[in-house]
Amino acid sequence: MLATNSRIPAGRSGAEEDFARYRDVVADIFARHLRTVLPGVDGALCSCGNAWPCREELLAAELLDWI
Ligand SMILES: [Zn+2]
Repeated sequence: MLATNSRIPAGRSGAEEDFARYRDVVADIFARHLRTVLPGVDGALCSCGNAWPCREELLAAELLDWI
């Protein structure tokens, strides 16, 4: 938390600010990592090229549980 708090101007370090930033991060991940199904390929792929769900996608889902 210390690393993130140092980037927040004084007086704006409330939990609401943290949640707003997490929402931005999650929205960005969901925008860049899309579930893709290719013909002839077992299972789904992420648009980043890894197997679905990729690590970024799992991280976004984890963050969503908090906010
Ligand atoms: Zn991905």
